[in-house]
Amino acid sequence: MPQAPETPRPPALTIVDHPLVQHKLSLMRKRETSTSKFRALLREVSLLLAYEATRNLALEETEIETPLETARMPVLAGKKVCLVSILRAGNGILDGMLDLLPSARVGHIGIYREPRTLQAVEYYLKLPEDLPGRDVILVDPMLATGNSAVAAISRLVELKARSIKFVCLVAAPEGVAQVHRIFPEVAIVTAALDRCLNDHGYILPGLGDAGDRLFGTK
Ligand code: URA
Repeated sequence: MPQAPETPRPPALTIVDHPLVQHKLSLMRKRETSTSKFRALLREVSLLLAYEATRNLALEETEIETPLETARMPVLAGKKVCLVSILRAGNGILDGMLDLLPSARVGHIGIYREPRTLQAVEYYLKLPEDLPGRDVILVDPMLATGNSAVAAISRLVELKARSIKFVCLVAAPEGVAQVHRIFPEVAIVTAALDRCLNDHGYILPGLGDAGDRLFGTK
């Protein structure tokens, strides 16, 4: 019996090497880039990352009327995307993504890194009630140790999100390995895979503390 074609699985790690993304990210990395410029650039890059992260959304055909004739054309099937921001820096990615996905639902997970152990501690959670019917795009600009990402993904798995993709701006190899060791099925989309972490869990060369740069808190 012929098998129904399977939806192709997204690659485990996608590095968005588009020249616009790379250029804007380099500007963001510069020490002298102001808070307002950093925020504007993050919004622009996030829109482009959302474009890549939504590449596998399912389409269905529908009948439409062009000015000339009736035609069957593809539209998004379901429109059931939920963006989930890991507070606080994840919020910097939301606006750009919502420009592209205006009807997406939005959830928030508050997680901080305990500075001594770098372990993730959840302090806030607000998600749509219909998560089991939704494809989640989890966002945080920096995938460093992977501890926050793993904590957030664990929560989304527990609440039965239909699928989970992780989108960040800069990833460290250690963070990618940690997420994929525990959740090999979670696809990661990033603008860059940097060299390594320093002793304080910061990404090198990185761009510093994304939350501080975004909100001007240091
Ligand atoms: N979080 C940040 O904001 N920056 C890093 O380099 C690592 C974690």
